Amino acid sequence: MTTRRTEGRGRRYDSVLDTVGDTPVIRINRIAPEHLDVYVKVEAFNPAGSVKDRLALGIIEAAERDGRLTPGQTVVEATSGNTGIGLAMVCAAKGYPLVVTMAESFSVERRRLMRFLGAQVVLTPKELKGFGMYTKAKELAEQNGWFLASQFETPDNAAIHAATTAREILADFDGARLDYWITGYGTGGTVSGVGRVLREARPETRIVLTEPANAALVASGYVNTRNGAHQPTESHPAFEPHPIQGWTPDFIPFVLQEALDEQYYDALVPVAGADGIAWSRRLAAEEGIFTGISGGSTFAVAMKLAESAPEGATMLVMLPDTGERYLSTPLFEDIPAEMSDEERAISRSTPTAQMP
Ligand code: PMP
Repeated sequence: MTTRRTEGRGRRYDSVLDTVGDTPVIRINRIAPEHLDVYVKVEAFNPAGSVKDRLALGIIEAAERDGRLTPGQTVVEATSGNTGIGLAMVCAAKGYPLVVTMAESFSVERRRLMRFLGAQVVLTPKELKGFGMYTKAKELAEQNGWFLASQFETPDNAAIHAATTAREILADFDGARLDYWITGYGTGGTVSGVGRVLREARPETRIVLTEPANAALVASGYVNTRNGAHQPTESHPAFEPHPIQGWTPDFIPFVLQEALDEQYYDALVPVAGADGIAWSRRLAAEEGIFTGISGGSTFAVAMKLAESAPEGATMLVMLPDTGERYLSTPLFEDIPAEMSDEERAISRSTPTAQMP
C-alpha cells in the first residue's frame, strides 16, 4: 500500500501562464545548522524554470493593458538568459513574435533554448559586451516599432514581485517567524518589489542583499550615470566578470535603485562565486534541491549568517532558477562524465556487465 497520496490541484489551467508563481517554500533538513529554521523559495517551479517567468508575464500583461503592446506586435529584449527564456514562453503562449539580442559569448544552449521556444536570437559581437546587445535591441525597437521589454528600467518589474513573490511570502509565513529574507540582484526587481511589501508588512524581517565579491557595485557606493530613460550611460567601474549568471550586470539598474534609495536591505554581504558553486552542489547532492549558481550563492550567504544567528531564527533564501541551465558552465566543470575509481570498483564487484 502506498502512503503518499496526491489530490490534484483542484482546477484545470486555461494557460501555462496561469501556472507562473506560487512557488513552494521548502525546509532545508540536512545541511543547515540545527539551531535554525532555513527555508528556500524554489523559483525553478515556474513553468520555464526561473523567477524571470514572473517578470516576463508582468511586463507583457502590463503593456497589453495600457496599449503599449498590440496584438501581433514583435517584442524585443537584450538578455542572455532567464528573461529571454521567460519572455519566449510568454510570447509563445500569447502569440507574439520575440527577438532576443545576445552577445555571442553566452552559452550555445541558451540560444538553442530560446529558439526552441520560438524566439529569434540575434547575436552581437562579444567585444561589445552587454552594451552591444543592449544598443542592438534599442535600435531594433526604434527602427521597427517593436516593443522593448526594458527589464532594467520598467516599473512593471518590481510591481510583479510586489504583487506575487511578496504576497506569497507573506501568506506562507503568516503567523510564523521570518527573521531573515536573503536575495541577490540582477535587475533588482525581486528585492525592490518584495522589499517594498516586506518593509510594510513584516518590519521585523531583516532583508539581506548580496552581490558578487569581485563585482561589489552596491558596496562601492558609486552609482553609474543614466540617461533620461533611466538607461545606464557607462559601465560601472567596480564591475568585473563573475560566474554568478543572472546577477549584477555591469551597471546599477534603475529598478534596483528603489531598494537602495529606500533602504530595503539591512545588510549587504558579498559572496565569492566559488562558494556559490559549492553550496549549489551541496543543495543538490544533500538536499535534492537543484538550483543554479545564484541560488547557491544566496544560500552561501545564509549559511554565513547562520553562524551568528540566534537560536530558533527563521530564514528564507531565494533560489532563482534550476541548475539544469548550467550544464556547460563552471557549475558542472568538476562533474566528470567518466567513471571514478569508486564507481569502477562498484562495477567490478559483481560479474556481469562490466566495462572493458
Ligand atoms: N538569479 C538568476 C539566475 C537570474 O536570472 C536573475 C534575474 N536576472 C536573478 C537571480 C536576479 O533577479 P532580479 O532580476 O529580480 O534581481
